[in-house]
Amino acid sequence: MRNITRGKAGSENSMFKKILIANRGEIACRVIRSAQSMGIKTVAVYSDADKDALHVSMADEAVNIGPPAATDSYLRPEKIIAACKQTSAEAVHPGYGFLSENAEFAKDLDEAGITFIGPNIQAIKVMGDKIASKAFAEKANVNTVPGSPEEIETPEDAVRVALEIGLPVMIKASAGGGGKGMRVAHAEDEVAEGFQLARSEARASFGDDRIFIEKFIVQPRHIEIQVLGDSHGNVVHLMERECSIQRRNQKVVEEAPSSFLDDETRNSMGEQAVALAKAVDYRSAGTVEFIVDKDQNFYFLEMNTRLQVEHPVTELITGIDLVEQMIRIAAGEKLKLNQSDIKINGWAIESRIYAEDPYRSFLPSTGRLVRYQPPAENTHNGLTVRNDTGVYEGGEISIYYDPMIAKLVTHGPDRESATKHMSRALDSFCIEGIGHNIPFLSAVMDHPRWLSGDISTGFIDEEYADGFQGVEADEETICLLSAVAASIDHLYNIRRRTISGQMGGKEVSFTQQRVVVIGDNNTFVTVIQKPDILLINFRKGSCAEETVEVISDWVPGNPLWTGTVNSNPVAVQVKPVLNGFRLLYRGVDIEAHTYTEREAELQALMPVKIPADTSGQLLCPMPGLVVSIAVETGEAVKAGQSLCVVEAMKMENVLKAERDCVVAAILAEPGDKLAVDQVIIEFEKDTA
Ligand code: ADP
Ligand code: ADP
Ligand code: MG
Repeated sequence: MRNITRGKAGSENSMFKKILIANRGEIACRVIRSAQSMGIKTVAVYSDADKDALHVSMADEAVNIGPPAATDSYLRPEKIIAACKQTSAEAVHPGYGFLSENAEFAKDLDEAGITFIGPNIQAIKVMGDKIASKAFAEKANVNTVPGSPEEIETPEDAVRVALEIGLPVMIKASAGGGGKGMRVAHAEDEVAEGFQLARSEARASFGDDRIFIEKFIVQPRHIEIQVLGDSHGNVVHLMERECSIQRRNQKVVEEAPSSFLDDETRNSMGEQAVALAKAVDYRSAGTVEFIVDKDQNFYFLEMNTRLQVEHPVTELITGIDLVEQMIRIAAGEKLKLNQSDIKINGWAIESRIYAEDPYRSFLPSTGRLVRYQPPAENTHNGLTVRNDTGVYEGGEISIYYDPMIAKLVTHGPDRESATKHMSRALDSFCIEGIGHNIPFLSAVMDHPRWLSGDISTGFIDEEYADGFQGVEADEETICLLSAVAASIDHLYNIRRRTISGQMGGKEVSFTQQRVVVIGDNNTFVTVIQKPDILLINFRKGSCAEETVEVISDWVPGNPLWTGTVNSNPVAVQVKPVLNGFRLLYRGVDIEAHTYTEREAELQALMPVKIPADTSGQLLCPMPGLVVSIAVETGEAVKAGQSLCVVEAMKMENVLKAERDCVVAAILAEPGDKLAVDQVIIEFEKDTA
């Protein structure tokens, strides 16, 4: 049986020959990559829904573990253990989510003589419970958020304790995770309700409804410390990550280091994280999460006893492969790193690319990835792009699992260069067939508060209170896209002439006059072809008169236009439409039409097509399953009233009436599987 402390630690032949990865998606692929580079054979497990998944094709062997639902496959310890036995895998890496923080699973593995690539069972147990871990942290002299040390039993107790602590307060489930089971109360009358809501959510999600209350830290920033401990008592920290860009207490953008910490705070956070890890005999990679107030006071939130989703930003600033370290530690090796070896090099940013529709309140989106063309991974001139992914073009995003499809990470010498590189990488990321949040991530990268570092966990709610409507193109963007549109149009015109043979197929240098129309902006341009460069002369109209130089080797048909405009590198996604192109750039999504001057004059006289009126209908915003319908035919409903519940990707989405109206017909019933935009309810004409 493999034990955690073994005499021959560090020796070559103690390393595992084969490990099993009890996970799916990008993290399974990520773990396989490190194992392969260490010369370790890998075993994937997969549900029926994942038989064609990327992690299955990357691994040396793969074992089917049952039906699509995670509760029937990835969450079943006995199936994972059977797969280990079948393939003689010596150890299991659990990734994150699923069984990664399940102490029973770690115990079952131990009893079966298989090594868990993670911490000791006691650490998982203590840190898996927020009340217990907070008490433990306090004993280890770690700062904790002021609040009730014990479980709160009744709404009356909740109100009393909240007033003692002082409003606002955070009401939290002890068993909570993934941002679930927590409520903020700003006023006394919100406390009892928040307590009930947190409690019922905790009961439904975790089967454990113990609740505690702590002070809500205002203008909070989420900053966490990565730790690494071995089974010989050595613990180091790998600096911090800031994860303040969150939606519904779930991280969206992360960075390392934090733009907020000074060295003194960084060191004392690191020291406290190490002290806590030592107090639980922590072995493996782990994360101590803190909430930090505007004066850099920091308080322990929780410890995640696993590899964290956002671990790549730490890898890029420290140069340390965390998965490799976890495997070495699990094999009994001693850490070869001292605290003084660990330095911050440059800046890294991670954007989580989710299958969700940012224009429809971020509802999950599923379907086939008709196009999946991520930016190239490379390091060039001190700038790095890394893309951790588990999908491929033609693959399917199913309704069964987490909606994250990739993690795009950039690294540069400083925050500004890493941000710019991220913007460009996002512009170059082509995804079609499903909704995705790339335009939203682009908007965040260009937001003045992101650029200045003035962020908090309230950023998204504060800046996008009414949701995300896309980015409005400013004048500079319109003129840049006008130049790109003129250059694309020019290439198409050359091609047409070449095909028709009018210019003998050889002509490469000529001049044309065109009008580029973007919304209400008309720009009159003269396009002059030189051997390697295109000169676009803005003659009159919406853009200031100047000559723009465009260089590009783009060819028609490529969905991504890349080149330079006045020497600045630019990437724009291009989709042909009637008389022009749809262009996507920095979260802007516009159509540019190109005409001769005469065509433009006539075009201005054309009637505008009015889109079909669908306000009299409730359309299904994403593919999903109807859970319940809350109204009846003939019923008068009020704005904001719940109409029905549709489930997709483990989330129940309540669809509400946008205005007062009367239900004319109900076209779906519970249990129906609906496509996007399928009509669920029709309203009476004059009422909708
Ligand atoms: P991390 O703390 O590693 O950044 P998150 O905080 O985003 O990860 O999520 C915490 C854990 O919850 C992860 O293990 C993740 O797999 C899981 N998780 C994320 N989203 C959901 C969800 N919608 N439902 C259930 N679990 C989730
Ligand atoms: P989970 O296990 O779901 O990740 P956490 O305790 O880590 O739960 O909290 C998740 C997020 O909720 C934090 O990143 C932070 O944004 C917010 N949060 C939690 N506790 C507080 C608090 N006391 N004050 C302010 N924000 C908090
Ligand atoms: Mg957390």
